[in-house]
Amino acid sequence: MADKKKLHDQIVEVLKKYPNGLSIHELREKLPSDIGAQAELNKRVRELRYKHAIPYENGKYYYRGKRSVPLDNQGINSKLRAAVLNMAHGRCQMCGRTVAEDGIKLEVDHKVPHNWGGPTAIENLWAICSLCNSGKRDFFKSFDDEEMKKLVAIENVHARLAEVLRLHQGSPVPSWFLEFVANVNDFQEDWQRRLRELRSLGIEYSFKKTKLPSGKVQTTYKLEKWKDLPANPRAEIKRVESGVD
Ligand SMILES: [Zn+2]
Repeated sequence: MADKKKLHDQIVEVLKKYPNGLSIHELREKLPSDIGAQAELNKRVRELRYKHAIPYENGKYYYRGKRSVPLDNQGINSKLRAAVLNMAHGRCQMCGRTVAEDGIKLEVDHKVPHNWGGPTAIENLWAICSLCNSGKRDFFKSFDDEEMKKLVAIENVHARLAEVLRLHQGSPVPSWFLEFVANVNDFQEDWQRRLRELRSLGIEYSFKKTKLPSGKVQTTYKLEKWKDLPANPRAEIKRVESGVD
């Protein structure tokens, strides 16, 4: 899409003018160019979030300025590290154990590894304890790096989620990992809904809740039945959910 950059600039200009936020419909109305499907416009806004702070709250997008720490592909700098640790409040974001009560040490880590194409962005970073980090690395070893690079680059979120379940067929995939994959190149507001929608496409999975020693509940998902995805998953989901045959 050659005009993507131009559209990005236009979106920023429009959002800047409305500090009280704009819904996706309002944004569309105020844009000078006609840009086709709504899903596309949502995606364009989400892409901007790598460079601009554009939170989505109560159905509206708000422009909060250019990021002071651009989401580039550099290593995690001290400012970004401090921001991630600050958000963790001394608690491992995977197991829930704390620095104060459990004596853990927190490490700032990429959710989707950088070498799979995960960005060095606050959305793709978290603070986890050393034990969780080594467990995570072991879990990631079960994936093939080349396959994961391809997976992370898939544009459609349903296709990405389905592919993770398929690649890990036979063993359970923890919810945190599905969440990462949903968000990796596409900030998803509701990844669990995207996952449920796979059922409308004929993909079946089971899930299991396990209580971790810290008391935190972890859900894992397992593929039960595979079906190849249609070319346009969103259109098919809409068709199935509206009950049209
Ligand atoms: Zn932990």
